[in-house]
Amino acid sequence: MTMDLSEFETQSPPRGPRCSIHSAYERLSADDRVKLTEALSRTKDTPQYRRIKNIEIAKWLRDRGVSISPMSVSRHRRQECACDDRPE
Ligand SMILES: [Zn+2]
Repeated sequence: MTMDLSEFETQSPPRGPRCSIHSAYERLSADDRVKLTEALSRTKDTPQYRRIKNIEIAKWLRDRGVSISPMSVSRHRRQECACDDRPE
C-alpha cells in the first residue's frame, strides 16, 4: 500500500530569507568559510573532536562582523532553518 506522506513536505521550513548562517557564509573570507563549516560539523556526534558550542560559533562570527544568536546556530545545525543548499 502506498501511503501519501505529502503532508510532511508542507511542514518544511519556509524558503528564504536565508538563515543567518547562510548570510554569514556570504560575508566570510574563503579561509573562514572552511573553518566555519568544520566548526559546525563538530557536534556531540563527532566524539573524536572537541565539540564546538553554538555560543562559541556565534561569538566567533560576531568578531567577524556577523551578528548571530546561538539559537540561530543551533537551528542551522539541526537543519530547522531556511537554508535549502546548506554549504557542507
Ligand atoms: Zn541555515
